[in-house]
Amino acid sequence: MLVVLEDVSKSYRTAEGPLTVLQGIDLSLDSGQSVALTGESGSGKSTLLHLVAGLDHPDHGRIIVDGQEIGGLDDKGRAALRRSTVGMVFQQFNLIPSLTVAANLAFHARLAGRFDAAWQQALTARLGLEQLLARYPEQLSGGQQQRVAIGRTLAARPKLVLADEPTGNLDEATGDAVMALMLSLVAETGSSLLMVTHSHRLAGQLDRRIHLRSGRIDQSVERPA
Ligand code: ADP
Ligand code: MG
Repeated sequence: MLVVLEDVSKSYRTAEGPLTVLQGIDLSLDSGQSVALTGESGSGKSTLLHLVAGLDHPDHGRIIVDGQEIGGLDDKGRAALRRSTVGMVFQQFNLIPSLTVAANLAFHARLAGRFDAAWQQALTARLGLEQLLARYPEQLSGGQQQRVAIGRTLAARPKLVLADEPTGNLDEATGDAVMALMLSLVAETGSSLLMVTHSHRLAGQLDRRIHLRSGRIDQSVERPA
């Protein structure tokens, strides 16, 4: 298993007292498997992704990513695990504004020590970014920015891609096109995917759909073979 969550709970401290956001989450994700995470706004989807990325700590339970228990790692160890194993794609794209498209595309692969010019060139072509390499993020449309963000993530060949509503800021047609590209590239890379989405249609394209309700998994459905 690439990712295992065992009885994971998380609450936030708020002015009104503790707010329990995740309760008793058990979840495992095989290498190469894709899982959609659905649920109403506020049901804990982004929190779950942050925990798997090691960006925040559970109050209870264990999270194991690529054989390493995140709770046993210090900040440096978690950052190293993220660099080596995990790629993230965000709703807000999060490109580096001061870098060109070409430099954004290479950024994570270089950080991970896995820059591969041939793979980067192949990704650039597949994502239709050849004519945009010298531009800066602010000179791109939303769909173009998200294609760069996907290329940047996959250039590093992460074992695990975490995506939080990656098409949430795109119109439906653009979002569908970007998603189709992302799913085929994730499959080619052999990465696992854990993706938050509001779209039942998109969720239906992944291997499994997990639905969160009030911080608990209330439905887990495999895609029919
Ligand atoms: P989702 O992504 O499903 O919309 P989130 O995981 O972002 O849900 O948030 C779940 C709940 O936790 C929400 O009620 C949200 O307001 C609250 N929450 C999220 N992050 C924090 C935080 N850092 N501090 C306090 N409350 C938070
Ligand atoms: Mg969210």
